Amino acid sequence: MLTCKQFLQELNDFLDESTDPGLRSEIERHVNECPNCWVVCDTTRRTLKVFKGMEAQAVPADVQQRLVSAVQKKIAARQGKRPAAPIGQ
Ligand SMILES: [Zn+2]
Repeated sequence: MLTCKQFLQELNDFLDESTDPGLRSEIERHVNECPNCWVVCDTTRRTLKVFKGMEAQAVPADVQQRLVSAVQKKIAARQGKRPAAPIGQ
């Protein structure tokens, strides 16, 4: 059984998925049994997701434009109107 201190030491690797499987299951067990560490784990995981979300916005411009145009078409279809600012074409 891990202590909370050990858990915190391993948390980054755990969330990075670079922990070896044996230690990983020890950590998962600790998180399931210790509400404090569960909160820490959950909060840290959310924070990492936000960082990864920021990276995901750095997509190539043409991909971003295709996404925007697809979303605009969807909104326009739902409203029964033409897109306010058609992109390309
Ligand atoms: Zn704990």
